[in-house]
Amino acid sequence: MDWKTQITHMISDYIREYENSGTPMRWKAPLVGFAAADSPEFPKLSRVVHPEHALPRDILSDASIVVSYFLPYPDEIVRSNLEEDRNVSVNGLSLIAASAEWAMAYRETNILFGKLNDYLKEELEKLDQQGRPVSESGRSPVRAALPLKAASMDSATVTSRWSQRHVARIAGLGTFGMNNMLITDSGCCGRYSSLVTDLKAPADPIRRDESCLYKRSMAADHKPSCGLCIGRCPSGALTAEGFDRFLCSKVCEANQEIHDPGVTLGADSEVCGKCLSGLPCSFCRP
Ligand code: SF4
Ligand code: SF4
Repeated sequence: MDWKTQITHMISDYIREYENSGTPMRWKAPLVGFAAADSPEFPKLSRVVHPEHALPRDILSDASIVVSYFLPYPDEIVRSNLEEDRNVSVNGLSLIAASAEWAMAYRETNILFGKLNDYLKEELEKLDQQGRPVSESGRSPVRAALPLKAASMDSATVTSRWSQRHVARIAGLGTFGMNNMLITDSGCCGRYSSLVTDLKAPADPIRRDESCLYKRSMAADHKPSCGLCIGRCPSGALTAEGFDRFLCSKVCEANQEIHDPGVTLGADSEVCGKCLSGLPCSFCRP
């Protein structure tokens, strides 16, 4: 079994068991991609995302492969966010609330990531580079590290020093849509995570064919098409001209007040996702 198949099984098996442990959340089949740690795309992220964006070798000195994975949300979670059309005003900001299910999905996926990534690291480090238990082969184990510190958000820039979406793009999982989300073969509604390893395995090629209908038609004949995600953004943070991440962040903070009122520590409902729901790219590559 190759490494990608093996890791995909590890993730799927863990999630199936975890779903029986009392969480109200469910996840669709994971997508896994491998990014080369020495890809020239990583240094570019200090220009594109955050000036202090980490490199894989900042996280693991002899990194070779970054394992990136995407967990798509179930259809009903996405539908709930489309159907929730309550206009609310929070601290003078008028918005359409995210659904309670969408907020729950975000919180529960964060909890899952913490446990699943620890599990993946532990399981990988029991194996040698041939995928055999180190206890039997006596060879050196695979090494893996989690980009925990790097992945924290810089509140001044509202960007991360380890952008999971950009890492997933380098790992060949998809291309960015007009809504700034990565459109994968299973759409754009879900969450990404990653771990850095010294696996001796081939990297995936970066996808060069546009998945977003708008970008594809602009590239073909300079005529825009689709653009549905722009119309979904109730605050005007997302327009054809660009994306106001500070306004978007305010909307997400307002949703936290709606879904976790009065909670300042440990609340984890900074969500919106209206520009992901009910689109041709929500569940698939259109
Ligand atoms: S809704 Fe249309 S324009 Fe927006 S990201 Fe999806 S495919 Fe692109
Ligand atoms: S998440 Fe999307 S819809 Fe919501 S405010 Fe941000 S850009 Fe707009």
